[in-house]
Amino acid sequence: MAAQDAIPFPVYVVHADTLKLLAVNTAMRKRSGSVVGGLCYKEIYGQDVPCMHCPLVEMMAKKDMSRRKMVFELFNEADDRWYQMEETLIPWHDGTVAKYSIAVDVTALKETQNALVEAHAELALTSRQLERLAITDQLTGLSNRRRLDDTLTSEVQRAERYGTTLSAIICDVDRFKDINDLHGHQVGDAVLTEMAQVLKDNVRHLDTVGRWGGEEFAIICPETAEDGALTLAEKLRGTIAGHDLSVAGRKTMSFGVATFRPGETVTDLIRRADKALYRAKEKGRNRVET
Ligand code: GH3
Ligand code: MG
Ligand code: MG
Repeated sequence: MAAQDAIPFPVYVVHADTLKLLAVNTAMRKRSGSVVGGLCYKEIYGQDVPCMHCPLVEMMAKKDMSRRKMVFELFNEADDRWYQMEETLIPWHDGTVAKYSIAVDVTALKETQNALVEAHAELALTSRQLERLAITDQLTGLSNRRRLDDTLTSEVQRAERYGTTLSAIICDVDRFKDINDLHGHQVGDAVLTEMAQVLKDNVRHLDTVGRWGGEEFAIICPETAEDGALTLAEKLRGTIAGHDLSVAGRKTMSFGVATFRPGETVTDLIRRADKALYRAKEKGRNRVET
């Protein structure tokens, strides 16, 4: 096999009928020893029966001799390595047919590819996490102001275009400063987190609850007219007022409700909700105003 010895990759020739190794080049001999005369599936692949991946039958079935060539990748369990295989049928000296195989070790390439795929997956995960983080309020886990602004903008556009209803509720913890003064800032934080959860647990799936800032929250209610928003705000007010906080007894909240009027901007809508909240505070707190 003198000419083949110049090829730096393992080359072997197998009898198409008997699957006996007829010849190997130097590179193959270096890898597997002198295996000529042995069965290819035993000597090279460590199998007791012909390999599942072997394309010999398929190649033999092709009438066109020039198309009897297969290129494929395979994993050899015998040595734990990936190979790019190029297999061709050739006429052998005795008039029979033989399979001529070149096996290029592509393990390093495969490993690099796999590492690349993994790195891609990790990157996608990280960027999804970052996206989530960018729209989440760190303390309460609710939507943050940025997310609320985005949602308000798109919901106002939708209400304007399709003539649907939309309401916004802004609520603020009553005398929250007392909690901080009395129990400390950390307890204040815990109260905010607990209240956020109560709000979230008591709105519909379609509604967005977020932290508007400080001890103020906003609830955006698409497809909700004024009476629906008032009912929701009243329900939230009652639930909060009756909720025993795990750290600081009971606390109330005041609510301002505004329902979208065609032609107005997000700023207009929020200003009206804010004014309503201010009135609720003025009128004695723990109440809902529109
Ligand atoms: P009102 O009923 O008029 O709303 O009274 P209030 O005390 O709730 O209102 P005020 O605006 O005077 O005080 C709000 C307090 O909320 C002051 C501020 O230090 C506190 N606060 C704002 N954000 C946070 C926070 O993230 N954590 C804690 N612990 N306190 C906060
Ligand atoms: Mg307050
Ligand atoms: Mg406030």
